[in-house]
Amino acid sequence: MTGLPQPVDNLGALEGYHSPQVDVAVRLNTNESPYPPPAAWVGAVVGEVERLDFHRYPDRHAMALREALAQLHGVEAAQVFPANGSNEVLQTLFFAYGGAGRSAAVFEPTYAMHSQIGMVTSTTVIVGERGPDLRLDLGEVKRVLVGAKPDITFLCSPNNPTGEAVSREVVEEVLHLAPGLVVVDEAYAQFSSWSALDLLGEDVPLVVTRTFSKTWSMAGFRLGYLIGPPAVVAALEARVLPYHLDVVKQAAGRLALDHRDDMESRVSALVAERERLLAAMADLPVETWPSDANFFLFRPLRRSGDEVWQGLVDRSVLVRNCSSWPRLGNCLRVTVGTPDEGDAFLAALREVLS
Ligand code: PMP
Repeated sequence: MTGLPQPVDNLGALEGYHSPQVDVAVRLNTNESPYPPPAAWVGAVVGEVERLDFHRYPDRHAMALREALAQLHGVEAAQVFPANGSNEVLQTLFFAYGGAGRSAAVFEPTYAMHSQIGMVTSTTVIVGERGPDLRLDLGEVKRVLVGAKPDITFLCSPNNPTGEAVSREVVEEVLHLAPGLVVVDEAYAQFSSWSALDLLGEDVPLVVTRTFSKTWSMAGFRLGYLIGPPAVVAALEARVLPYHLDVVKQAAGRLALDHRDDMESRVSALVAERERLLAAMADLPVETWPSDANFFLFRPLRRSGDEVWQGLVDRSVLVRNCSSWPRLGNCLRVTVGTPDEGDAFLAALREVLS
C-alpha cells in the first residue's frame, strides 16, 4: 500500500471551523463571557469531584443534570437532551434527522457550524439568503421552505454573527411552513427578550438549543442542551455515543444552576455594556447593526475590514474578522466584554480609524 487513504470528500471548500487564537490582552472574538464563573461554584465542583466514583461509567442519561435543567425551564426531564456543547447537540440532530438523502435549510449569513455539520453528515444544505439589511426575510424563508421542503430548518436567534433575534410571529410562521423539524439555536437567548421555548409542545416539530458556554461562563467545560418533544429527545439519545457526558461535567452543569442570580446580573451588565458600546460607535465612521446578543457586527466605512482588524490586533485587541465571509464584506464582529475591555476596544478603534 502506498500513502495514506483519502478522507471522505464532503467538506467542499471548507477547512473546518476555527477562529484564530492570537495572544493579545483583550480577547473579544469568540463571544465567551468575560467573567469567570462564581467562586462558590468552583468550590462546589471541587467538593463534588472528591466524592465522585471515577472508576465507574457516568450516569448514561445524566438524570440529575436533566432534572435540574427541566426544573429551570419548567419542562419534563424527558424533554431535555444535554451534550458536549450545543455543537454536539446540533451534530446529534443531524445524525437523527439529516444524513444522505435528507436536507437542511439555513439562512446566511448565520452560524457556520449549521452548514458545516450538515456537510460532514452528508446532508444536502439548502442556503437561503437574509435580506440586504442582514435581517431574516420571511418572503425568502417561504420560498426556500415551500420550494425545497427541507427535513431540518435552522433559525439562529439571536443570529450569529448579525445579532438579530427572531420574533414569535416569525417562528410561528416558519413552523406553519416547515415540512420537517425546526431548530431554533438559542446560544445567545438570555441576552434577548423573547425565547422560542414559549412555543414548545409535545406534537410541535420545534426544538430549542442552549449552551453553558456564554452566559454561564463555562465555555471551557463544553456543555449544552436541547429542549423539545420527548420523541425527538429519544431519537437523539438513540444516536449519541454512550456515556458521552463525563461525571465531572454532569455535576458541574447541575451545580451551575444554583447560581442563576449571578448569571442574570451578568447578563444585565453585558446588555448595558452592549448598548454603551453601540452608542459610542454611533460617533465613529462605521456602520453597526443592532444586537440582541453579547456581540455586535460593524463595518468600517473608510478603511478595509482587514486593515482595521490588524490595527486592533497591533493594539492588543482581538475581534472576529468576518471581512472575507460571503455577504459580510469588510465586517468585524466584536464580543461584549467588561467595561474596561470595552474602553480598550473603543480607544484602539478610534486610533485605527483616525
Ligand atoms: N450556536 C451558536 C449560534 C454559536 O455561536 C455557538 C458558539 N460559537 C454555538 C452554537 C456552540 O456553542 P457550544 O460552545 O455550546 O458548542
